[in-house]
Amino acid sequence: GSQQKVEANILLLGAENVGKSALTVRFLTRRFIGEYGDMESVYSHSDRIDGREICFNIWDSLYPQNCATPGYVSEEQLQWADGFILVYSICDRASFQVVRQLVQRIRQARKGAERAAPVVVVGNKRDLQHRRAVSGEEGRLLALAADCGFFEISAAEAYHGVLAVFHALLELIRRARALK
Ligand code: GDP
Repeated sequence: GSQQKVEANILLLGAENVGKSALTVRFLTRRFIGEYGDMESVYSHSDRIDGREICFNIWDSLYPQNCATPGYVSEEQLQWADGFILVYSICDRASFQVVRQLVQRIRQARKGAERAAPVVVVGNKRDLQHRRAVSGEEGRLLALAADCGFFEISAAEAYHGVLAVFHALLELIRRARALK
């Protein structure tokens, strides 16, 4: 029923240093603290959205160093996640390629599934316009081609963009569940 608590397992993936932890902490605390340890953690966070209690389980993953398989996602991660946030930095071209590979990998893994897994692609560090290496158009096209949501945000500058990312993903997860 509508009063039931909803759980959503959300996995953040992307190259090192793109702001995955900044995004997670911004969502959890509304704050930006600047430096984040390189810890891999799962956080739980409950919120009331449209009168419903939503429990977000957020897995802030570490991208494996010297990764031999581009766009690596473990089986465990694929099984666990209800939805994916794929983060790159708009100033880091290589991180955009990682997201491109992650999209492919996730789409392949769920090939047999009726509906594509809910994915939102995020170009972070929008405040660093002078160092931009990936255009907004490129990001948007990648997301469009793979049926993903897309946002350019700055986790450093604002909370609202981060909130929009999580809400958009939640909406995609709800739709995917409704169709099951
Ligand atoms: P992760 O390795 O992907 O988890 O990245 P972190 O969250 O640790 O962030 C890496 C670095 O980028 C840190 O120094 C952050 O302060 C910085 N950072 C994160 N988000 C932003 C942003 O939106 N703008 C700017 N200018 N710096 C950011």
